[in-house]
Amino acid sequence: MKKTNLQKRLFGTNGVRGVTNQELSPEFILKLSYSIGSFFNGGKIIIAYDGRLSSPMFFNAATSGLIGTGCEVNDAGMMPTPALQYLIREWQMDAGLMITASHNPPEYNGVKVVDKDGIEIPRSKEEKIEEIFFEEDYCLFEWDKLGKKIARFNGIDEYKEGIKSHVDYERIKLAKLKVVVDPGNGMGSLITPYLLRELGCEVYTINSNVDGNFPGRPPEPTLKNIQQLCKVVKACNASLGIALDGDADRAIFVDEVGIAHWGDKSFGIIEKNFLSNNPGEKIVTPVSSSKMIEEIADENDGKIVWTKVGSINVSRKMQEIKANLGGEENGGIFYRPHQPVRDGTMATALIVNLMSYKKQKFSELIKSLPCYYTIKDKIPCPEILKEKALEILVSKIKGQRIELIDGLKIWTSNESWVLIRPSGTEPIFRIFAEANDEKNALELAKKYKTIINQIVKEIK
Ligand code: MG
Repeated sequence: MKKTNLQKRLFGTNGVRGVTNQELSPEFILKLSYSIGSFFNGGKIIIAYDGRLSSPMFFNAATSGLIGTGCEVNDAGMMPTPALQYLIREWQMDAGLMITASHNPPEYNGVKVVDKDGIEIPRSKEEKIEEIFFEEDYCLFEWDKLGKKIARFNGIDEYKEGIKSHVDYERIKLAKLKVVVDPGNGMGSLITPYLLRELGCEVYTINSNVDGNFPGRPPEPTLKNIQQLCKVVKACNASLGIALDGDADRAIFVDEVGIAHWGDKSFGIIEKNFLSNNPGEKIVTPVSSSKMIEEIADENDGKIVWTKVGSINVSRKMQEIKANLGGEENGGIFYRPHQPVRDGTMATALIVNLMSYKKQKFSELIKSLPCYYTIKDKIPCPEILKEKALEILVSKIKGQRIELIDGLKIWTSNESWVLIRPSGTEPIFRIFAEANDEKNALELAKKYKTIINQIVKEIK
């Protein structure tokens, strides 16, 4: 890889990502893992990979780089990202490397670097690894001091037992839930249906063979992509459908009528149940989350702690303030008694656990939540004008509750807000508007879109 200013950063919001044999080649991964191995100074590293066609190639390149820099490489094989994160702590490793591109299309792959606490490394450590990479300042070991490779076979079972220890499986068994799992040919195929069967559910699966071509559906569980699951849930008369993303750290749920609900709803259900059992607890969520999450906290004696958007921010905040539950609208549930990172299979176990306790249908649990409508849109804005545009917008807001945690969030009434966030990857502002009916949410998005367009036009 040539050193140009554009390539001075390797890590994006969730590790290093790119298209196979374009941005991401085995040679690049070798150098990256030399840099990671040098940074961790020959420590104990666990490495795992997802089912993408390019994963074995990158796995081998990364293993070589780590051995060359004196690391003890613990090969955990193919598994979900949260399984690797769980095992770092269980096996007392110094760090972890996950070869995955999560929910990205099949041609992509990537590397997530995880710290010894099981959470992805913070930006400060990424910067040090980038520095080693661009300076080629690797610490390569002599032939007789190379690291070694250890094959570990029991990782997924240990992870599964870890999840089971947080739910009441006798109770779940009694509920006789019929469920349909759609791992989208991704890593959930290796764990989620097996776990649910062991918990006593009657389990049906679709797209549950690992296949790097992703023949069933794209790895991102959007409502559009999981329509097949909705139909199967209905046809089987099942109580619940579960769709996972490619590396199984996020889960989206389908009710017994065959309607898929976005992640803020399942988070709301889990939050409500969690707070009724644990009043006074703090709930961590990004500023883009629904007002519903705050309302549930208010009604159930909980306290919301807002963070910047991004799963690492939620995880790190939870660790810092010792919060036990966090969530994102995209289906990320963070349950710290298990681990403070998002975990699609743990989220699934929490949902079947509470359904068996409540003896309520999933659609009934959804109906019991406060109802809001969210509109998402984007506004073009050149990178260099983003800061200035936002400053001008802030100066125009008078007498309204605002938050500046990530972009600008303006509460326009008790029930409605709008969030304007500069995108980290594209020359746009992302706009989120929420209100208690769809029309108001649309109007709100439109109003602020016009204001920002005007500001950008003026300062261009
Ligand atoms: Mg993922």
